Amino acid sequence: MEYYMDNYLARNIKVKDNREKLVDISKYVDVIIKKENIGKIKIKNRFVRKSVALMLKKASLSLPRNCRLIIYDGYRSLKIQTIFFERQLKSLRKRYPSWNLKKLKKEASKYVADPEGICPHKTGGAVDVSISCNGREIDFGGFNLFKEKKISLERRMNRKFLARIMEKAGFVNYPLEWWHWSYGDMYWAAVKKKKFSIYSEIK
Ligand SMILES: [Zn+2]
Repeated sequence: MEYYMDNYLARNIKVKDNREKLVDISKYVDVIIKKENIGKIKIKNRFVRKSVALMLKKASLSLPRNCRLIIYDGYRSLKIQTIFFERQLKSLRKRYPSWNLKKLKKEASKYVADPEGICPHKTGGAVDVSISCNGREIDFGGFNLFKEKKISLERRMNRKFLARIMEKAGFVNYPLEWWHWSYGDMYWAAVKKKKFSIYSEIK
């Protein structure tokens, strides 16, 4: 099966937004927030819907005492999503110079949602996470936005460890990205066979 961020199953899901507010994750749970800036643009990556923050708290509580969740990304505005998508397009264009824009966009949307389509991070329901133990980030194998050839046993076990914690808290994973988890968005609704997603995109 081929995966895309706007999974074909998710395209048929209707949205009934429950109007939950975006909240600052760090007000709910002790996490490490990674900051990323693109040029002069500061990315505010610490906001998610309230239920998501509470679920991250739950996930965090099931970690060993010496470990904390690392948050790489939460809610993304259209502007930030567009920058991420363009960046992915650019690196694909370098790899496959003969491809046309349509093909490039389709391939790019396997790993970064097309800002014109369904974008999990624009709903505030998606979060990119990792784990740090004793002050060091666990080796999950990095953020590979291209198909991985081989994943070592250790990294596979580490990813399972993260998955156990996040699934127990109620999140669903996007299978091509060990770090991407969501709740309430269209992808979640498709996986969980819900009639409606509960978070629409926040403009
Ligand atoms: Zn993500």
